[in-house]
Amino acid sequence: MQAVADATQSGRPGSFAALGPAFLTRLPATPVPDPYVIAVSREAADSLGFDARIAQDDEARAFADYFAGNPTREWPADALPYAAVYSGHQFGVWAGQLGDGRALTLGEVEHGGERLEVQLKGAGRTPYSRMGDGRAVLRSSIREFLCSEAMHHLGIPTTRALAVVGSDLPVRRETIETAAIATRIAPSFVRFGHFEHFYANERVDDLKTLADHVIERFYPQCRDADDPYLALLDEVSRRTADLMAQWQGVGFCHGVMNTDNMSILGLTIDYGPFGFIDGFNAHHICNHSDTQGRYAYSRQPQVGYWNLFCLAQALVPLFGANLPEEGRAERVVEEAQKMLERYKTYFAPALEATMRAKLGLDTARDGDDTLANGLLEIMHANRADFTLTFRNLSKMSKADAAGDAPVRDLFLDRAAFDAWAVQYRERLAHESRDDAARAQAMNRVNPKYVLRNHLAEQAIRQANEKDFSEVARLLDVLRRPYDEQPENEAYAGLPPDWASDLEVSCSS
Ligand code: AMP
Ligand code: MG
Repeated sequence: MQAVADATQSGRPGSFAALGPAFLTRLPATPVPDPYVIAVSREAADSLGFDARIAQDDEARAFADYFAGNPTREWPADALPYAAVYSGHQFGVWAGQLGDGRALTLGEVEHGGERLEVQLKGAGRTPYSRMGDGRAVLRSSIREFLCSEAMHHLGIPTTRALAVVGSDLPVRRETIETAAIATRIAPSFVRFGHFEHFYANERVDDLKTLADHVIERFYPQCRDADDPYLALLDEVSRRTADLMAQWQGVGFCHGVMNTDNMSILGLTIDYGPFGFIDGFNAHHICNHSDTQGRYAYSRQPQVGYWNLFCLAQALVPLFGANLPEEGRAERVVEEAQKMLERYKTYFAPALEATMRAKLGLDTARDGDDTLANGLLEIMHANRADFTLTFRNLSKMSKADAAGDAPVRDLFLDRAAFDAWAVQYRERLAHESRDDAARAQAMNRVNPKYVLRNHLAEQAIRQANEKDFSEVARLLDVLRRPYDEQPENEAYAGLPPDWASDLEVSCSS
């Protein structure tokens, strides 16, 4: 553990921590009694240059203490972790100051030319905790851990998770649960809400410092643009559009797309009541508390745009520094609006490319979007399983209906499916790839294994009984989401009946 502590530096030049006290508050974590290791991701450990064996055997307790935020021998007494301040719009309403209410960043680890921040989630109260207890419960920490790593293995931009450690410390939610701390990793945890914070507080110098930090570290290509801050908005739009297209492509619902949960790097961040859709409902709402459906599956891309609008608003004081004073305000708004419009030109082609790949179409032809939408419509009408429908599509043949059954059987309305299959085969006739080559390509973009709610729930139920083996097993399956894993067929199946009334609330 000494090597881990030594590798974790806080406040080096160019780091977020070096921005100083206007941006963060340093404070120790609040210790938890007798922490234990629940799960570790060896790939995440690799990305930090840590050996995952540091969580095993004799070292397990030291690891658990360290990543629970408990004072340890290794932790340098003069290096306190920090909580960052941000604000944001929650459910479309300005919420004012929020901030890391239960997250503490230990510092940055540099490995293989990359600098990654290491953050504990659930390590106790901070000045930004408001009414909260600074804790996270076991179930939500396991869900965040598993989904972060699952997303990474799916190839979708995300914050990562190194580990989850637990403690029997009671935590009050709807019932009494126990505490857990997830260790998250990302190049940066800066959110749209960070910018909104300094804008709302009319702290333009700090706003500029933050924007310059983000450009310098993550978007250096913007430095030389006519207007670096407009260029930043454009880059963030592009990444956000790509992320939304990728979420749509795997049937992922975030659940709480507030602006404080939007990463400036276009990463999936803050896993709460998220869900992968089982039976497809285009308007699926995964967050039980989202009564209006603001963050329904079908609305996510539009919400991404709405959130970018908030970011643009926050950046307005920085735009147009080179413009003449006369008429600058109007020009800036015009330019920002024009820039925002480009989101649509990023999102639509990204989604089309995603859907084309999912359908196994190597070339682009007019009508491809109609074909894709036609499938989604009958999937919606039949509540056909999202993951299985796309996965089984690769079994269909260009020549005849011999391979249709595995996908066709997912539809109650077989006639509707057959009608779509005729169009699909007509379209496949224009493709030069043979069935085998197409299937191979499709199986690289249509996952067989996603973190279905019932799978996470099963792992959580066992973890509540102190059996953490299912968390490890599930992580192992989700490491290879695109592979056939004959021994893990059960993890690819439809949700069992008991799972039909599973609800995921905001409480975490
Ligand atoms: P979330 O909806 O989880 O993204 O959280 C929104 C805001 O509430 C963030 O500022 C969180 O840090 C804060 N928060 C959520 N849960 C807690 C908690 N248990 N204790 C303190 N702050 C919390
Ligand atoms: Mg959040």
